[in-house]
Amino acid sequence: METIRTISWMKEAARQARADNHLVGFVPTMGALHEGHLSLVRRAKQECSRVYASIFVNPKQFGPNEDFAKYPRSFESDSTRFVELGVDALFAPPPEEIYPSGFSTYVNVEGISDRLEGSSRPGHFRGVATVVLKLFEIVQPDFAYFGRKDAQQVAVIQRMARDLNLNVQIAVCPIVREPDGLALSSRNAYLGPEERRAATVLYRALEAARSELSRGTRDSLQVQQAMRAIFEKEPLARLDYAEVVSADTFEPPVRVSRASYVLVATHLGKTRLIDNMLVEPIQADSNELQFHL
Ligand code: AMP
Repeated sequence: METIRTISWMKEAARQARADNHLVGFVPTMGALHEGHLSLVRRAKQECSRVYASIFVNPKQFGPNEDFAKYPRSFESDSTRFVELGVDALFAPPPEEIYPSGFSTYVNVEGISDRLEGSSRPGHFRGVATVVLKLFEIVQPDFAYFGRKDAQQVAVIQRMARDLNLNVQIAVCPIVREPDGLALSSRNAYLGPEERRAATVLYRALEAARSELSRGTRDSLQVQQAMRAIFEKEPLARLDYAEVVSADTFEPPVRVSRASYVLVATHLGKTRLIDNMLVEPIQADSNELQFHL
């Protein structure tokens, strides 16, 4: 596996792959790899004849009081894992390659970027959309693989791809979880043992939403209340939000009747974690729902 540090070299490798008629798959990450990331690579390997991954801890998507400096970095072991899975090249540029001095152009996906993660983390989605557009422009992939773990991020990227007529297809992969339900995240490494035990509160809240909906509840406030009740019983967790939103607009629906996300975010000590469940009617106009945790 080639490790590529410069934009010009990455562009040339990708140009060559396309000239050789390869279908190019791309998996952008911030490193500190876990099975969630690796599941994206495995899917890309199944569907594409060339797979590129990137590791770039993007300073523009972290707020001033967030964890950019201490975000876990494990380049050597990440690199080994990509090699084992057959990644063809790893793009790992230094920050100044992506943001040279005087950098001043940003992508702002309006509306959907403003709520939930966007309001808790001002500027976050502007940073995400900007770097993802740059990476797409450099790699020019046919398919790019993202995890549903970051459902709002996927929605922002899909909207950007549609609005800017990008040629890339966005593939969304399921959430990979620990046996006790906690979604894998590089930030789980920050949790102390007590916090780690308490962290299942996100999954437990989503399960409470699922049983409320299975019981026939369609009023989204009632579903939210069921989730809040779970958080109230977990003293280590400080709830940021527990909401139900429409899957395409991320606006809160009054009643859950179409595809929706149930989304939760919480602080556990200094660590902030998110999780979600996709809910959709079993058939187009069915009242019966299916749940994707
Ligand atoms: P990150 O390195 O956190 O930027 O994540 C890189 C990609 O991996 C994003 O598309 C994430 O949504 C995805 N990802 C992170 N955690 C998981 C998980 N537990 N299951 C599936 N995908 C994930």
